[in-house]
Amino acid sequence: MPKLPLTPIRTGGKPTRASDHMLEVDGLCFEVLRSERRRTLQITVERTGALRIVAPPQVEDRQLIDFVEEKLLWIHTKIEEKSRLQQRAPIKDFVDGEGFLYLGKSYRLRLVEKQLVDLTLRNGRFCLRQASVRRGREIFMRWYAYRAQGWFERQVAEHANRMGVIVNEVNVQDLGYRWGSFGTGGRVSFHWKAILLPPRIAQYVVVHELAHGLHPDHSPKFWIKVEQHLPDWRSRKTWLAENGIQVEGI
Ligand SMILES: [Zn+2]
Repeated sequence: MPKLPLTPIRTGGKPTRASDHMLEVDGLCFEVLRSERRRTLQITVERTGALRIVAPPQVEDRQLIDFVEEKLLWIHTKIEEKSRLQQRAPIKDFVDGEGFLYLGKSYRLRLVEKQLVDLTLRNGRFCLRQASVRRGREIFMRWYAYRAQGWFERQVAEHANRMGVIVNEVNVQDLGYRWGSFGTGGRVSFHWKAILLPPRIAQYVVVHELAHGLHPDHSPKFWIKVEQHLPDWRSRKTWLAENGIQVEGI
């Protein structure tokens, strides 16, 4: 049987695949997804530890099992990595002095008695109204989403033309375990948490998603497009895989 290349874990992409069935191999449970567009098999270990196989429609279970068995060591290493990273995810208490990320920098929180709005960032400090602490998470989320909208709109405007991608709409929302996605009708979406990443990493997310406007899969053509615009995309991608979890705990 010819060996199929193993594609690395995805950052985002199009959720256009239909869930097929579950497949158990060596005590591990895989969700099998079929895609007309796929030519090769792909295994992903999600940040939650969930396992997926994406396969072309005609590939039989026996082949999937062979493929998984061949990759077991890689899969177990990834699962271990993910659970280690998951444990490091910080949980916020919204107390004085606690650090909050914004574009890769950590700003300390100060709880203030009197303030017209719930949250501001001034003089290098996040100032949260004492009376609003209980809604802290929601307030931070809204603040991040608002800032993310402007930042990602500017980034998309800067990169889309150069990359030859037509974008009609930029959205910021909770995308679950994806940093971004490129949808139909030229609609590009970003997770509001992406605004916590350092600018050069968030920029990689932008270029990555824009490249999906031309190539929906993570094909060699896709990575060539990414490389044309970000020659050092590899180090940014690695950084995101290793450190992205730091922005998880808000
Ligand atoms: Zn992608």
